Amino acid sequence: TCGICVEKCPFDAIEIINLPQELQDEPIHRYGENAFSLYGLPAPQEGQVIGILGPNGIGKTTAVRILAGELEPNLGRHEEEPGWDEVLEAYRGTELQDYIADVRDGDITIARKPQYVDQIPNSFDGNTRQLLERTDERGALDELVERLSIGPVMEQSIDDLSGGELQRVAIAATLARDTDFYFLDEVTPYLDIGQRVTAARLIRELAEEEDKSVLVVEHDLAILDLLADTLHVAYGEPGAYGVITPPKSVRNGINEYLSGYLDNENMRIRPDPIEFEEHAPRTETYGETLVEYPDLTKSYGEGEFSLEVEGGAIRENEVLGIVGPNGIGKSTFAKLLTGNLTPDDGDTDLDLDISYKPQYVTIDQHMRVDAFLSSITDQFGSSYWNTEIAQPLQLERIMEQNLSDLSGGERQRVAIAACLSDSADLYLLDEPSAHLDVEQRVQASKAIRRYAEQQDATVMVIDHDIYMMDLLADRLMVFDGEPAVQGHAGRPQPMRDGMNEFLANLEVTFRRDERTSRPRINKPESQLDSQQKSEGEYYYSP
Ligand code: ADP
Ligand code: ADP
Repeated sequence: TCGICVEKCPFDAIEIINLPQELQDEPIHRYGENAFSLYGLPAPQEGQVIGILGPNGIGKTTAVRILAGELEPNLGRHEEEPGWDEVLEAYRGTELQDYIADVRDGDITIARKPQYVDQIPNSFDGNTRQLLERTDERGALDELVERLSIGPVMEQSIDDLSGGELQRVAIAATLARDTDFYFLDEVTPYLDIGQRVTAARLIRELAEEEDKSVLVVEHDLAILDLLADTLHVAYGEPGAYGVITPPKSVRNGINEYLSGYLDNENMRIRPDPIEFEEHAPRTETYGETLVEYPDLTKSYGEGEFSLEVEGGAIRENEVLGIVGPNGIGKSTFAKLLTGNLTPDDGDTDLDLDISYKPQYVTIDQHMRVDAFLSSITDQFGSSYWNTEIAQPLQLERIMEQNLSDLSGGERQRVAIAACLSDSADLYLLDEPSAHLDVEQRVQASKAIRRYAEQQDATVMVIDHDIYMMDLLADRLMVFDGEPAVQGHAGRPQPMRDGMNEFLANLEVTFRRDERTSRPRINKPESQLDSQQKSEGEYYYSP
């Protein structure tokens, strides 16, 4: 090891080319002897949205607490703490100098959106209107409520909001404040793509039009790309140390991160690159038909939501992606397949065992992770199960913890493992990306794909992260209609056709990055955007 890691080298089997410059310097903060150390800080800029890209547990919250003036950094020294003047001295001549001077003088105010919105009801009693009215400092609340479609839940108790509604209320509450510095820790969980794009535009407008400093942590790379002006990559060993790089252009930052190698730092952060395919993946290897379902309709009652499903076939051995806005009937369709709901027309006596991971994971009993998982599969602990499930989902470290003590991302990984470990004909995962960091999304995608291939399993995945869909799905099923009123489900189709249909509904076009082939959202009304729309090629540049 290089003497920094507390436990084991995070760069297993990787030759360390060069110790990064940052690690030869003092940290900005160390919590104690042999405790977590943070190297480097993001540099807020007025009028700009700065992004941080990296795994959880790497010191983002620590960095923000320093930038908010809540935590006085110790530069790694514990005997005599240096104080802000010395910290300022250490940052003289860097982009952070003026900002740190303001923090020292107590001149920085901050608004922040927490990562886990599900916990907001624990700390607030009252309805949406009461929560939001306390935050209306810029006179922008009405517009935020309108554009984030919060109107219908204004009088609803915070306890009764869905995850997607809580997320939009939390974003509005943060952006409505009038402060110097805004920090948003993940904006996309539980939001559909339309809502993600809207949130990104609102954040950009706050920076550009109000000249505010905004810092975001975001794991949906398509949205991060749209949102940020510059990017800091964060790497290190979660729990041991974290390094925040100097700012990079968003394109380079994401490309270097995906490639696993940071150019300026001369640093390898992952043994293998994350690769996207130039063409729609694996449509050629069609399996046998697992099940055919007829046209179906389902209504929740007079004047309530109704869904029409075009009959189709699901193939053995495929990963079928499901996309569409929130409230359009995706879960309703899933429940029709699982027999939890009976259709009004059509027959779903499909005779299928389905293993289902719901969107909101609620496994919080007082039970250890290992006990919980071994109650689901007798494969638990076998070398096969360890290699295919536990390792890619990074479960080893949390096996002895209680389900009720897990973080959002940990709970998600356990729930994905539980779903895949059950023996079933069809595996249905609703928003597996929620609360996973980028690395975990890629690992989970690989685990799900490999599982489908090796177990001849059929998997259906509902998700809003375009990168994850691109990595995961063989074919796509597109839902459209009017959310909460009526939905229509098309039959499964090839990725490219499905993406074209889906993105045309949203009026968003994607191109492929020249270097890495990753999908990138085109700027609205740019030349490429207009050209692709006129050619009907929303997903791939022609
Ligand atoms: P992130 O926001 O990237 O998930 P954090 O900044 O919250 O990461 O935490 C980074 C590491 O620092 C974690 O391992 C955490 O346990 C540790 N840590 C956070 N606060 C303290 C503290 N007050 N004392 C000791 N360790 C801490
Ligand atoms: P999605 O999974 O696409 O977000 P859902 O299938 O969960 O959509 O919901 C579609 C619509 O049906 C929503 O407006 C939802 O409020 C409504 N809905 C869901 N379940 C019920 C129910 N049991 N009774 C009445 N309305 C329902």
